[in-house]
Amino acid sequence: MIVNYQEADATIAEVLLDQRVMRGIGNVFRCELLWTCELHPWAKVSSLNRDECRELVSIAAEMLQSRHTSHDRTLAVYGRHGKNCERCNGQVRVTHHGEANRVLYWCADCQNRHAGTSSSRYVTEHDTPPGVHPAEFIYLSELEQARKSG
Ligand SMILES: [Zn+2]
Repeated sequence: MIVNYQEADATIAEVLLDQRVMRGIGNVFRCELLWTCELHPWAKVSSLNRDECRELVSIAAEMLQSRHTSHDRTLAVYGRHGKNCERCNGQVRVTHHGEANRVLYWCADCQNRHAGTSSSRYVTEHDTPPGVHPAEFIYLSELEQARKSG
């Protein structure tokens, strides 16, 4: 289903939140899913081959199922910005992505599958500095925008 996604330029991170593509993937699971699959969030969805799409979908299904059985599942990246990635020991980052400007937690060191195709529509200069709450960061940057345009 992802293979036939209409906007070939769309990034994986955006497509995962599209309810027409995958139901029930919230923002938390989106971040965790991308990390589990070692996918670069900004990779173009069209760069995934059929097998990778299948893998993505089946891992997503597993994650959604395990959500109902285990409540103490620890999160790998979500809410952990500034902390070390348990897989590569790199630093977990948080940034904002897409039209909805949702927060996106990820590890730039090991989530690099298809990184070469990443869309230039989004750059990582919007990284939230460690110690700043993402909501606060969005608020402050919007305030800044408003000041510039006003
Ligand atoms: Zn990592």
